Amino acid sequence: MAKRDYYDILGVGKNATEEELKKAYRKMAIKFHPDKNPDNKEAEEKFKEAAEAYEVLKDPQKRAQYDRFGHEGMRGGFGGGAGGGMSMDDIFSQFGDIFGGGGGGGSPFDSFFGGGGGRRQRKGSNLRIKLHLTLQEIANGVEKKIKVNRLINADGVTYKNCPSCGGSGQMKKVVNTMLGQMVSAATCSTCSGSGKIIDKRPPGVDSTGLEMKEEIIPIKIPAGVSEGMQLSMSGKGNMAPGGGMPGDLLIVIEEKEDELLKRDGNNVVYDLYISFVDAALGGSMEVPTIDGKVRIKVDPGTQSGKILRLRGKGIKDINNYGKGDQLIHVNVWTPKKLTSEETDLLEKLRNSENFQPKPGKGEKGFFEKMKEFF
Ligand SMILES: [Zn+2]
Repeated sequence: MAKRDYYDILGVGKNATEEELKKAYRKMAIKFHPDKNPDNKEAEEKFKEAAEAYEVLKDPQKRAQYDRFGHEGMRGGFGGGAGGGMSMDDIFSQFGDIFGGGGGGGSPFDSFFGGGGGRRQRKGSNLRIKLHLTLQEIANGVEKKIKVNRLINADGVTYKNCPSCGGSGQMKKVVNTMLGQMVSAATCSTCSGSGKIIDKRPPGVDSTGLEMKEEIIPIKIPAGVSEGMQLSMSGKGNMAPGGGMPGDLLIVIEEKEDELLKRDGNNVVYDLYISFVDAALGGSMEVPTIDGKVRIKVDPGTQSGKILRLRGKGIKDINNYGKGDQLIHVNVWTPKKLTSEETDLLEKLRNSENFQPKPGKGEKGFFEKMKEFF
């Protein structure tokens, strides 16, 4: 069966913005959600189709590829062939981004989106936020207070035992078979298994008993985290309707680029530029480090490309395996412009015996230097 156009599936135009895509997908996900359409194969297919379309179009790179090459361009990414697509688990884990944090207002779907990861569990959905950290914060660890919009159980909501299941959360069904009576248990559909339903709720609180509230959550970031790392705070995600387990707050680390210092694992690398006069005569140079400026000594006769090491001036290892170093890469700066006076001075030195390069003896090549330091 030919695949339908991703834009058609979501009912948006080719120029749809990120926000429009999200909105369209949200609508589809609610309409065709399996919890709302039990045992409906067609709805399930539509649900999966929409998820796949959104998965591609939300990613600018994949979207561009799709725009250029159509479904052909997506081969590999989704297994291409018939039936290939996202698993239900993939789809549900995507919901954290769509329905979770930052979104405005308590949404009606939280009632049937039991959880971000596994539906039908009485667990609140996970929230995911991004946290930008400077190199300094990463090197030494940091305590942050982060603002999070999470669904919490609203004050003034009272619950009573579910009349359908009598509070057990399970519906027992007795079936007469040839082998005698069989009892089967299923999750109660009235209370979704919690055994409780809302008795009274204040105005403004939706039928799930949850409301969106901004909270300031203090978090301790350990030293040595890196880009893309995900920290999890258990129970700090959205609460579950009816007082089940709250979801988790997932914090995704993003590194802010430092203007001067580059990170290489737990080491910090700095490119130092010195004049060839300083390289020849030696001198004291100022160098930035994570903990502020320090002065280092450059020996007379220092060659361009030399790597100096400041021990322990790097980043603390996340598993406490000590601390990295700062490596200083010495570059001898060659002037690009000279006054006539400077030119005269240098001309006098041009043929001087000591100014003739004599590499080989005692000079290490690029690869030897690399081996020594990494
Ligand atoms: Zn019930």
